[in-house]
Amino acid sequence: MIETQMREHDWHAAAFVPVSGEQIRNMLSATASGQPPAFELPAGTEIDPLAVSCRRCMRLFSDAAGEPCLPVPMP
Ligand SMILES: [Zn+2]
Repeated sequence: MIETQMREHDWHAAAFVPVSGEQIRNMLSATASGQPPAFELPAGTEIDPLAVSCRRCMRLFSDAAGEPCLPVPMP
């Protein structure tokens, strides 16, 4: 029996996130000590999504919603 597995999309929103100079300096000093780059945002921060796409198949929500996810091989 061949098992076919329809994978769900893994939706993510691309967005601009407001950051302060202090947040950037903190991030740079953290990455200098080997930590991955990251920002901690205050609770209630609103972000403005630019686009929503799937991390697996790289398609936009407006194109791929309602269709099966066909993952693109990653290097
Ligand atoms: Zn997908």
